[in-house]
Parts: sequence; C-alpha cells; structure tokens
Amino acid sequence: MKGLQGKTALITGASSGIGQAIAIRLAQEGCNVAINYRKSAQEAEDTEAMALQTACGQAANCAVKTLLIQGDVSKEADILRMVNETIEKFGSLDILINNAGIQTESASHEVPTEEFDRILAVNLRGAYLCARETIKHLLAQQRSGVIINISSVHEVIPRPMYISYSISKGGMGNLTKTLALEYANRGIRVNAIAPGATITPINESWTEDPKQQAIVESHIPMGRAGTSEEMAAAVAFLASDEAAYITGQTLYIDGGLTLYADFREAWSA
Ligand code: NAD
Repeated sequence: MKGLQGKTALITGASSGIGQAIAIRLAQEGCNVAINYRKSAQEAEDTEAMALQTACGQAANCAVKTLLIQGDVSKEADILRMVNETIEKFGSLDILINNAGIQTESASHEVPTEEFDRILAVNLRGAYLCARETIKHLLAQQRSGVIINISSVHEVIPRPMYISYSISKGGMGNLTKTLALEYANRGIRVNAIAPGATITPINESWTEDPKQQAIVESHIPMGRAGTSEEMAAAVAFLASDEAAYITGQTLYIDGGLTLYADFREAWSA
C-alpha cells in the first residue's frame, strides 16, 4: 500500500494474536517493525521470523528490519525505553499501533480495585503514554505520523461482567478523537479499529470449544468470527497514504456485530 515502504512501526503486544498479524502485515508492506512483547521472548522471536519470512523470503539483502523490545505498557519507564530504542535503531518512529490489551471477568460490583487499575493501566493509560511519547518525537522531528488504536466493538457496546475492559475501550474512542483533532494540522493522523469477535488467544475460552464458538458466531450477522489477518489488513490501510484524509475515526471490523443483530428478524410490530 502507498507510503508504507521504509517507514518504522512500533506495535505493542505484538507477539500474539492481532498484534502479531499486524507486525507481519506491516513488514510485508515494507515497514521496519519494532515488536513489543511483555513476557514471551520465544513468541516475539517467532513473530519476527514470520515477519521477515513474509517480507523478504530468502532474499539476502532485505530492506525490512526488525527489533524485539521487551516492555510492559503499564510502566511509564518501559514505554520511554521502547520508544527511544525504536528511534535509536531506525532513526524515526512513524507509526504507532496501540494493540496491547487485557481483560478479566467479574461482576461489576465485585471487581477488585487492583484489577480495575491494572486493566485501565494497560488498555488505556498505556495507549495514551505510548501516543504521547510518539507525538513528542514526531513534533520534534517535524515529521508526519500515524497512530492506530486497537479498540473493540465494546467502544460502543456495553459489556456486563467486563466493566474495566468496557470503560477502557470507551475511553480509547475519545483518546482517538481528541488526539486526532489536536494534531490534525501537524500531519499526525489518529484512528482506531474496533474488532468484533476475533480468533486469538484472548478468546481461548470459546475458540477452543466448537460448541462455545458456535454460540458466539450465532450472534454475528456474517455467521463467523474474524481473523487477525482481517484486522491487520485494515490497520495497513489506515497506516498507509491510501487513508491520507482519514483521521479521528474508529473503523468497526465485526461481521456486522454492531448492527443490532437482534433486529435481523422482526420481533416487534
Ligand atoms: P492477545 O491476548 O493475543 O493479545 C494481547 C497482547 O497484549 C498479548 O501479546 C499480550 O502479551 C500483550 N500484553 C498484555 N499486557 C501487556 C502489557 N502490560 N504490556 C505489553 N503487552 C501486553 O489477544 P488479541 O485478541 O490479539 O488482542 C489484541 C487487542 O485486540 C487487544 O487490545 C484487545 O482488547 C483487542 N480486541 C480483541 C478482540 C478479539 O476478539 N480477539 C476483539 C476486540 C478487541
């Protein structure tokens, strides 16, 4: 896609699921990719190998470069280090993908305070701090850039039993719009994608049980869950110059989940 070749992208939580697919896709489009992971160096190395294989095949002199960076986005010091290491290695940071995210299930009146704080610290505060540091760098270098937040259909659909997650993704919608408005005239575009039910490790509870998966998919107008690659394709588009006039938007990629599926059949006069 236009304008991606030679750019540098930092992807948080890139060693699995949607983040991994984004790292591979952006490498395929010719971006250098900084692959952030929190725990599993092995998964990050696997992601790196797949990204390089997809981008370069067996070519000896491949233009695409990669960097593995351990770091926890709930820790400010780790974020500063991640952004600095990326810029040191590649000379710039053009594209930030705020993908790292966690969720836990608890009745809203029983969520332990530490659990609430942890989810907000990763999903929302971490995304903001990564964006803040990226924007500082872009302004200092007078470069244009792109930030893409990996939100969720729960940016707009309330999610009982997942209050912290719901709040974090709702907040991400406003994070996207506020930054987009504030930096639109300085060449920085900020958008989000909102995946629906997607087959990744975060959803092991139903992706590993065909009966549970069928129940989930019965609620999706298109009748199936999405794939990480489908999410990554939209991210590549939004990051590219094909989307040069798009900012402040959340693109729902959900097989129709946000279309009020209960209205598929008439149930009221
Ligand atoms: P996943 O669990 O595979 O990916 C989440 C990644 O974030 C993991 O690699 C994990 O190690 C990383 N991570 C967690 N805490 C971190 C931290 N403190 N610092 C750095 N990295 C951290 O699941 P996924 O589905 O690929 O999730 C990716 C994003 O997509 C999340 O933000 C999630 O909320 C969002 N999303 C997923 C779905 C879905 O159905 N899978 C739907 C909507 C939104």
